[in-house]
Amino acid sequence: MSKSFLLFTIIVVISFGLWVLYASAELQRFTQPCKSDGSLDFLVVGDWGRRGEYNQSEVAYQMGEIGEKLDIDFVISTGDNFYDNGLTSDHDPFFEESFTKIYTAKSLQKQWYAVLGNHDYRGDAEAQLSPFLREIDCRWLCLRSFIVDAELVEMFFVDTTPFVQEYYTETEHTYDWSGINPPKSYVSNLLKNVELALKESSAKWKIVIGHHAIRSIGHHGDTQELIDQLLPILQANNVDFYMNGHDHCLEHISDTKSPIQFLTSGAGSKTYRGDIQEKGEGLKFYYDGQGFMSVQLTPSDAKIEFYDVDGNVLHTVTSSKQLYSSF
Ligand SMILES: [Zn+2]
Repeated sequence: MSKSFLLFTIIVVISFGLWVLYASAELQRFTQPCKSDGSLDFLVVGDWGRRGEYNQSEVAYQMGEIGEKLDIDFVISTGDNFYDNGLTSDHDPFFEESFTKIYTAKSLQKQWYAVLGNHDYRGDAEAQLSPFLREIDCRWLCLRSFIVDAELVEMFFVDTTPFVQEYYTETEHTYDWSGINPPKSYVSNLLKNVELALKESSAKWKIVIGHHAIRSIGHHGDTQELIDQLLPILQANNVDFYMNGHDHCLEHISDTKSPIQFLTSGAGSKTYRGDIQEKGEGLKFYYDGQGFMSVQLTPSDAKIEFYDVDGNVLHTVTSSKQLYSSF
C-alpha cells in the first residue's frame, strides 16, 4: 500500500468518525401531526407519579375531561414522573401503577412526551428512557433532550437536572449520572445543540420544556444555572414559552427582558399550601394547589389555561402573532 493511499484512508476514517460523533450529538427529532385545520391542542402536567395518591387520580380524571373537551393531540410531562426515587429498572411495576393505571381516560390515550426530573435521577434514570417501557405502554416517550416538530410549533425538550450544581455535592440523596459524564461537557454540548436547533427553526411558535423553572416564586425558586446559561439562548432566539415543573404549583411569570412567558405546571399530585417566596418581578399568577395546564395553538393564536383539581379554570394566558407582515 502506498504511503499516500494510507494517508488518504486514515483521513477518510477520521472524517467519518467525526461525522458520526457530530451526528450522534444532535438532538433526536420526532414529528407530531397537527389537526386538519392546522391547530394543535395538548395538556401539560408535572410532578405526578404516586400510585394515584395525593389527588394524582383526581387530577388525572380532570385531565381526561378537559382532554376530551379540547380533543387533545398529546400530553407533555415536565418531569419528576415517579416519586420519590424514580424507577428501579424498566421492569419496575411502579411505572404501570403510577402511569398506565392512573391516566386511563380515553382522551389521554395519546402520545406522552416526558423529560426527567431530579427525583427521576435518584433512581435508574436510564430505565425511563428504555424502549421496553414503550412495549408496556405505547404512549410513553421519555428522553433526556429531544425535539418535537408539529409544523406550527417546534418543541425543544431540555434535560435540566445536570445543570443544577447542588445535586453533585448533596449527600442526602444519590443521583444516577451514568450516561452524562463528564457533566460539564454534557451541559455545554446540550446548550450548543439547543441553540443551533432554535436558530434553524422556522416554526411559528417555539416552546422550550424543562423540569426546573427558570423563574419561580415557589419552594425552589429561580434556577440560577438556567438563568445564566439557558435563558440568554432562549431570549436571543424568539422563544415564546418556557414550560416546567419542579415547584409543586401552577404559575405564570412574564420575562422582563423578552416576550418569553414562564409557565410552571408541577401540580400533578402532592402540593404544599402557602409554600411561596416573596413576590417576584413579572408575576402574573400563582396557585399552590393541584392541577394542570392546557395549550391551544393555531398559526396566529395561543391560549393557555390553568385548571385546579376540580377542572375550574384559574388563569388564562393568550398570545397572538401577525400572520402576514403589512407593507
Ligand atoms: Zn423536581
